[in-house]
Amino acid sequence: MSEKLSFVQPTPNSPWGTYLQQVDRVIPYLGDLARWAETLKRPKRALIVDVPIEMDDGRIAHYEGYRVQHNMSRGPGKGGVRFHPDVTLEEVMALSAWMTVKTAAVNLPYGGAKGGIRVDPKKLSQKELEKITRRYTSEIGIIIGPHTDIPAPDVNTNGQIMAWMMDTYSMNTGGTSTGVVTGKPLHLGGSLGRVKATGRGVFVTGREAARRLGLDLRGARIAVQGFGNVGSVAAELFVEAGAKIVAVQDHTGTIVNENGLDLAGLIPISRTPAGAVGFEGGDKVPNEQFWDVACDILIPAALEGQINADRARKTSARLVLEGANGPTVPEADDILAERGVLVVPDVICNAGGVTVSYFEWVQDFSSFFWDEDEINVRLDRIMMNALNQIWDTADKHKITLRTATYAVACERILTARQERGLYP
Ligand code: NAD
Repeated sequence: MSEKLSFVQPTPNSPWGTYLQQVDRVIPYLGDLARWAETLKRPKRALIVDVPIEMDDGRIAHYEGYRVQHNMSRGPGKGGVRFHPDVTLEEVMALSAWMTVKTAAVNLPYGGAKGGIRVDPKKLSQKELEKITRRYTSEIGIIIGPHTDIPAPDVNTNGQIMAWMMDTYSMNTGGTSTGVVTGKPLHLGGSLGRVKATGRGVFVTGREAARRLGLDLRGARIAVQGFGNVGSVAAELFVEAGAKIVAVQDHTGTIVNENGLDLAGLIPISRTPAGAVGFEGGDKVPNEQFWDVACDILIPAALEGQINADRARKTSARLVLEGANGPTVPEADDILAERGVLVVPDVICNAGGVTVSYFEWVQDFSSFFWDEDEINVRLDRIMMNALNQIWDTADKHKITLRTATYAVACERILTARQERGLYP
């Protein structure tokens, strides 16, 4: 018989286990609110759905999909949808929980949710991708909605997929419901600045962290893992600020160039099936060597669990900017802290995306759209205010920025929970 008696029990080395340990670390700083802390360790609701589609060759294929609403004490659920062959319920639980913490850390009126389908979308035709998206949306349609839970893009999902989700939900409910998803194309109620928002937030928080460390961005060497929406946009902004990208790793492999990779050449090629290693302007090296590259700043912007104890010991970076969700395991966190490496944690570092998603949702409801300058000014202000408050908390308690972010966020979540009280 399985040892796992409940779905909230983590399997070893899982992202959900990482999240639970992160919660345990903040409990001593929660005061009387600690009596509510167990609520953070249990998703409010988890839906598993079968997603059958007819493939182009006539076969009927079944995929497994998930939508988890971790916590809605402060507002509707909010969080992306991931299409990836490694997606599991437990991974989606962790990602939804990190959304709860993130939306509270930047003080947006949302809870946390996340979804995903266990599929390799690169193996689907465009027609199959549309079918799987629409069927999944219909299946989770019983729990999502503009006032209940608002999906967005994540790994391997984009504006087109959000357009299909919006259309499917609207067809099923008999209206045009732009506010049901964010990250939509501009013609369909999308927001200016949304595509670049997460990378921009990584840059804004990273620039401030570098300033506080006395690390000059001009000439700073940066290694980026994951060169999609988050990693490539952050890389461009750091290069504009005078830094150079000395290593990039994506799902096709790793390329390095100590003089700096030319992003104008690299980015378009990284979007083709050749991937980053298709770019001629750098040396292709084995993937594990990515972690040995001499650098000042490391930006993990791919998947969870990438910085393990070994890699935490190896990296020469002084600053780690977590563009990805959950890239650092707790043991590695401790090693980085002991080595004096500053980590700007995911729950603040990559909160730029959900912040502009919030702007998009507000614009959809008011049917009044802002210009890009207004969006970027508001984004920068929200990110900087949140980061400064977290930094003050870290200094006050002499704790890491991650634990400080959890302290600020969990106080907000649990205060809301306490004030609402338990129903019935
Ligand atoms: P994306 O699909 O645009 O890009 C993912 C990148 O990761 C690609 O370059 C891919 O090649 C690379 N990758 C995949 N598997 C890899 C592997 N095994 N090793 C190395 N690289 C690998 O996704 P994204 O939207 O940029 O998301 C990246 C991370 O940022 C995820 O952790 C996501 O949850 C997080 N995030 C995204 C957003 C957003 O707005 N898109 C917001 C917050 C956090």
